[in-house]
Amino acid sequence: MSNYPLPLERLIGYFSRFPGVGKRSAERMALSALSWTSEELSDFGDVLSSLREAVKACAVCGNICEGDLCPVCLDCGRNRELVCVVEHASQIIQFERSGSYHGLYHVLGGKLSPLSGKGPDDLRLAELRDRLESGGIRELILATSPDVEGEATAHFLAREFSSYSVKITRIASGVPIGSDLSYADSATLAIALEGRRGLEQ
Ligand SMILES: [Zn+2]
Repeated sequence: MSNYPLPLERLIGYFSRFPGVGKRSAERMALSALSWTSEELSDFGDVLSSLREAVKACAVCGNICEGDLCPVCLDCGRNRELVCVVEHASQIIQFERSGSYHGLYHVLGGKLSPLSGKGPDDLRLAELRDRLESGGIRELILATSPDVEGEATAHFLAREFSSYSVKITRIASGVPIGSDLSYADSATLAIALEGRRGLEQ
């Protein structure tokens, strides 16, 4: 049974779609929005409606950014011989916060997952192949999650790119086994990067 007016009920519905936000929190957020000024609400609406247009994927690495290329790819100070392969752009933010990595990235857009029907064609592999073929990359660091699907994806990638003259390494499991890398803290990621090892192909 709904006790809220429909517009508020709809807002609660949207807020409760955010990760970690339960029904009660969504209600508190929606009720709090009622106290905002019209300008604030209008600006909030503008931010949401322009979000897809304003935030894009970097044409090179797939990171989220405002223009065509992300700040990492544009930064001349980065080590362009190193490419850290991650599942999602959110993981780049974690690596950047760790301050321990100065190479480039490549976002796969997920991991191989037979159960949810995600195969090699659903990952950004062609883009990675293009980058390898254009030369200059000496090491691919596979930083997929240390769960079963993440490990399977890492081994698949190692085989897939074994014909290129590039060193392929896997981050160490300083990250708890079975965990999702999106939630690993920066210190853990720094240790995982430092302890990376070669992957038999
Ligand atoms: Zn980029």
